[in-house]
Amino acid sequence: MSQVHPGDTTLVHDLIGIGFGPSNVAMAIAIREHNARAGGQEAFDARFFEQQPRFGWHRGMLIDDATMQVSFLKDLVTLRNPASEYSFLCYLQSKGRLIDFINHKNLFPLRVEFHDYFEWAAAKVDDLVSYGHEVVGVAPVARDGAVDHLEVTVRSGEGLEIHRARNLVIGTGLRPLVPDGVERGERVWHNSELLSRVDALEGTSPSRFIVVGAGQSAAENVAYLHRRFPRAEVCAVFARYGYSPADDSAFANRIFDPAAVDEYFTAPGSVKRRLMDYHGNTNYSVVDIDLIDDLYRQMYREKVLGTERLRFLNVSRLSEVKETPDRVRATVTSLVTGEETALDADVLVLATGYGPADPLGLLGEAADRCLRDDEGRVRVERDYRVATDPALRCGIYLQGGTEHTHGITSSLLSNTAVRVGEILESLLDRGLKSASDEARTVADGTGTGAR
Ligand SMILES: Cc1cc2nc3c(=O)[nH]c(=O)nc-3n(C[C@H](O)[C@H](O)[C@H](O)COP(=O)(O)OP(=O)(O)OC[C@H]3O[C@@H](n4cnc5c(N)ncnc54)[C@H](O)[C@@H]3O)c2cc1C
Repeated sequence: MSQVHPGDTTLVHDLIGIGFGPSNVAMAIAIREHNARAGGQEAFDARFFEQQPRFGWHRGMLIDDATMQVSFLKDLVTLRNPASEYSFLCYLQSKGRLIDFINHKNLFPLRVEFHDYFEWAAAKVDDLVSYGHEVVGVAPVARDGAVDHLEVTVRSGEGLEIHRARNLVIGTGLRPLVPDGVERGERVWHNSELLSRVDALEGTSPSRFIVVGAGQSAAENVAYLHRRFPRAEVCAVFARYGYSPADDSAFANRIFDPAAVDEYFTAPGSVKRRLMDYHGNTNYSVVDIDLIDDLYRQMYREKVLGTERLRFLNVSRLSEVKETPDRVRATVTSLVTGEETALDADVLVLATGYGPADPLGLLGEAADRCLRDDEGRVRVERDYRVATDPALRCGIYLQGGTEHTHGITSSLLSNTAVRVGEILESLLDRGLKSASDEARTVADGTGTGAR
């Protein structure tokens, strides 16, 4: 059992952030900018914990030619504060590439470049974060029946530490999904592991890869493996007839606007479902049209030359996977005829998507005080604060896991800058209100003055 370091028992942070991906980096920047404006007066004290040893944004998928699916103007700050010194344009300026980027006439930078931007921005606020620190539990601290702060248990190389906060912001991201009955292994990867595992194949002359899935990550994996291993066959397996293009047309793109969050939040459940049905193809199970065209062109060229290495097993599903030390055998079943095809491969990549982690999974007893809707989903207010029983006075805010209440931007970058501004406003507003209530009740002699 690791030793627990109780830390400074008197220190209660205004905010603890769990996870330090783009969402909470943007949160830290919004707080830093607020504190700079406010001076010492209303300075807000925040601490973030990130389990990775250093900043990393989906490193396993930083394929060198992959581009962003969102305009660079939807960076960590610009939609909240276009004059921010933490913008992508300021990053470009600091790297001496601003004019080269402008000449490129491109809204969608390489993912590698945006990762570098995120790292640059995260480094500017790294005094607010502890890397290599995984949050493993949260417990409410009750006094006279009310909970005014939460104890957060954090695991690091040193053991367990306890920290305290009046508010939490949970930005722990998505989890890789694999099909039921399939287990990851040495030769069965989720695409999120691609780059961390693929180098080990160098020098082994793989003869076949299987990539399951029809979304952007699946298509990127097919193209990458085909290019990197020029002697290997790459088999794409998916239930669709073919890859479908992402709808990134201007009107549809408005579903990612800040105003769409207001409308989605207010809309009745049936309208919410309809909007997701209409516009799910802006993000889910779709592929950039340029990549679709490249793959088709490649497949056709190989047909003409008689050197086919790209195979598409469409209208099919993966029905069985067996891994041995030197191969993986996949059974692929046609959804049309039921015919089964056995494929032996060096590696099978599951590009089968990501799902939200249970946002309250870490909260332990505090989760029992969070309210749920009729379908058992977490109830979240417009300011991204989880609705709780009144005795829990701490704020628990979600960045992610709010698609059912706030819409499609929940797990994306499009609305991050605006969302963190709204969360900060809520924290300040509710914090100040409770401080003035407290002052009033203390002056009236009616309150305990606890905060
Ligand atoms: C390959 C790929 C490409 C994408 N490209 C785009 C794009 O172009 N445009 C777009 O809008 N969206 C894109 N997305 C969607 C993606 O969700 C967002 O880009 C972004 O990662 C959301 O940021 P986040 O901080 O909420 O979550 P994440 O980036 O997932 O960060 C969460 C962080 O929390 C940490 N963490 C988790 N649990 C704990 C814990 N218990 N304790 C401490 N730390 C913890 C994780 O280590 C991680 O660093 C992409 C997703 C993938 C997988």
